[in-house]
Amino acid sequence: MAILLLIQKKRVKTISFLIESFHLRILIKQTKYAKEVIILADIFSDLANLGLGSTEKFQVFEAEKKLQEPQIIQKEKKFEIESILYFAKIKCPVCGSEVLFRTIKSGKIRLVKTDLDLRPIYDVVDPSLYEVAVCNTCGYAALKKRFLSITPKNIELIKTNISHQFVGRDYPDVYNYEIAIERYKLALLDAIVIEVSDCEKAFLCLKIAWLYRGYLEQEKNCDAKKIEEYQLSEKTFLEHALEGFKIAHHQEKFPTMGLDELTVKFLIGELSRRVGLYEDALKWISEVMVSKSASRRLKDRALESKLLIKQAKGAN
Ligand SMILES: [Zn+2]
Repeated sequence: MAILLLIQKKRVKTISFLIESFHLRILIKQTKYAKEVIILADIFSDLANLGLGSTEKFQVFEAEKKLQEPQIIQKEKKFEIESILYFAKIKCPVCGSEVLFRTIKSGKIRLVKTDLDLRPIYDVVDPSLYEVAVCNTCGYAALKKRFLSITPKNIELIKTNISHQFVGRDYPDVYNYEIAIERYKLALLDAIVIEVSDCEKAFLCLKIAWLYRGYLEQEKNCDAKKIEEYQLSEKTFLEHALEGFKIAHHQEKFPTMGLDELTVKFLIGELSRRVGLYEDALKWISEVMVSKSASRRLKDRALESKLLIKQAKGAN
């Protein structure tokens, strides 16, 4: 899909983030202040299902990328999950339509463990599958907790850049990882359009990377091609998240998105490790380890990350 975005000087910061952080096909005419940017976004190609793929090129892609409906959810598991979900209702702040979204009843899931990059893992179902609210009428999507926090100016940006080409779709009662990835990508696309903070965009990218990882952990019978594709997608979104957190660390005030500055430093280090930037990773992780204000738990994570970096460097 093509989005004409970010023409004014004051938006150059966002342009930089996009260009540096997202491996997009970018056609750019650049003057001193980046005059015109047309983005053909590979990472959003599966949003063509939602009508956000108006170029011929992406219409072809749309047919190829149709989501496979939730064949990955077994019947018994589906029943178990359905019993802990309910429909919540909210009024879309962009178009006024009623938005229904699935929500997990409180107290029904339990945290089992946390990956080193802070991805939480739960027992019955991954709550990340249900964290994004989508308006099926206008295409506005955001994390549920931020869904109503949109300014009049941003409402107009969504209408102009998303709504006029968006086509809603019916979602099943129980979501799978592919559906969640689609909903998160729509939220990310909307976030780019309304120019949320770099930290928020980075956070959304990190969540999408975790969804790809979650898919591969859940699906034991993936073919090699799918595994390779999703591992690459996870890495791509980790790289986007890393770049965004680095920019945010330099330019934004913390805490934000529930993250304090030391946690962001740790994340930059750990994400650097995961994408193979070991020297960078060591630098950031070491800062956390010597910090007087880092918690014991964060220092323990930093130590674990450092050992893995040393192992990886030794193996290379
Ligand atoms: Zn709406």
